[in-house]
Amino acid sequence: MSNHTQELLEESRQGEATLLNAITASGNRKLYLESYGCQMNFSDSEIVASILSEAGYDTTKNLYESDVVLLNTCAIRENAEQRVRQRLKDFQGLKKSNPRLVVGVLGCMAERLKEKFLEEEKLVDLVAGPDAYRALPDLIAEVETGQKAMNVLLSLEETYADINPVRMGSNGVSAFISIMRGCDNMCSFCVVPFTRGRERSRDPESIVKEAQELFDNGFREVTLLGQNVDSYLFYGGGPKKDFKQLSEEEKGRAVNFAGLLAKVAAVSPLLRVRFTTSNPGDMTDEVLETMAAWPNICKYIHLPVQSGNSDVLHRMNRGYDRPTYMNRIAAIRRIMPDCAISTDIITGFCGETEEEHKDTLSLMQEVGYDYAYMFQYSERPRTLAARKFKDDVAQEEKNRRLKEIIQIQSEWSLKRNQEVLGQTVEVLVEGVSKKSEEDLFGRTSQYKVVVFPKEQFKPGDYVQVKVHDCTSATLLGKALTS
Ligand code: SF4
Repeated sequence: MSNHTQELLEESRQGEATLLNAITASGNRKLYLESYGCQMNFSDSEIVASILSEAGYDTTKNLYESDVVLLNTCAIRENAEQRVRQRLKDFQGLKKSNPRLVVGVLGCMAERLKEKFLEEEKLVDLVAGPDAYRALPDLIAEVETGQKAMNVLLSLEETYADINPVRMGSNGVSAFISIMRGCDNMCSFCVVPFTRGRERSRDPESIVKEAQELFDNGFREVTLLGQNVDSYLFYGGGPKKDFKQLSEEEKGRAVNFAGLLAKVAAVSPLLRVRFTTSNPGDMTDEVLETMAAWPNICKYIHLPVQSGNSDVLHRMNRGYDRPTYMNRIAAIRRIMPDCAISTDIITGFCGETEEEHKDTLSLMQEVGYDYAYMFQYSERPRTLAARKFKDDVAQEEKNRRLKEIIQIQSEWSLKRNQEVLGQTVEVLVEGVSKKSEEDLFGRTSQYKVVVFPKEQFKPGDYVQVKVHDCTSATLLGKALTS
């Protein structure tokens, strides 16, 4: 997962904590859980709530009735970590008034800092990494004997495939399904390989079962999550091998990402299938042809580019150059002309010259993305870039370059939305518009947000909407009455 989707969410949600709603008041102990960062973290929080629910915890929205407070943290940029440290300060008063309160940190920042977290943040009792969530009941019990507790072991096998996530903060229409964990790419700016470990793919049957259960419970959209979904490959578990290394027998039963997409799409034509994040170095035409073959696989791809200059991409160790990336864009346009494309861009990476920056601007003009998640380079400790390169682009220069990139993208986002004016689009309703109780909002297959008067429609409905206006972020329309 690029800093997309880490991010799809990161800047947009700005690590905003998503409060998890009360499940049942059964007198059980109360768990208060906040999630920061990417979709993978939100999905992990649903797994954590399930593991602790089995151990007798109800998840509550009410911080003041909680017995255990867990922050699922993000380490993608310095400001994400600062936000968690700031939030921990809010719990000081609570801990004073309730000394038995257990405060724990989970996720990527916990894995990156390990015991340093306990040393630096005295308020924290428990530290658990992304592969240690099954140990949480024991870690909490350890804290309740008066000790600090930690488990930051990374696993080569763990996929939590047998854990049935507790859907929290959900709109009851769309849900995440994590299909793999970890990442074997070593992009030089990224902490994920250090905080989430080696890549491992989850059993496809457990993924299809989860999608079927969601559909049976009224959900109408699933998003398959992975740091790099294109390298998904399941052939029976065990240490990861590339397809070429598999025995004939293993090849016979292997399921790659295209195969998994078709299996999930076959659950029901009424179940939309999305996925994130794709990797330009691994994305195959087979995946694109599978998307084109199934109407319910949404015509939207998040394909992080990070930079438009091949030398910068080489320094980023991204594993592809500009021509390779543009070849993937051309393949998408050829196989699915109506497919929307979004991306991630990091500006001001180590040694980036004005010319190299201009290459990013020219690539954005050439592709014309529907959306983009745009960041300034933030040096992360222990990464390849931190060890090999100087973070030498001046802050004001990073600010100027980011401003230019955002300007170009907002022009393209508007242009791409204007191309839909006058068309009728199929919208899956997700909920009531934030701006007006009289309006509903939902998304097209291309992930475009559409707002329209609600009439008799409700969340979960597929509605044909005629688009009559737009902004760079939203399409405005009216439902076609059958
Ligand atoms: S190492 Fe690269 S592919 Fe893997 S999560 Fe980080 S940015 Fe994404």
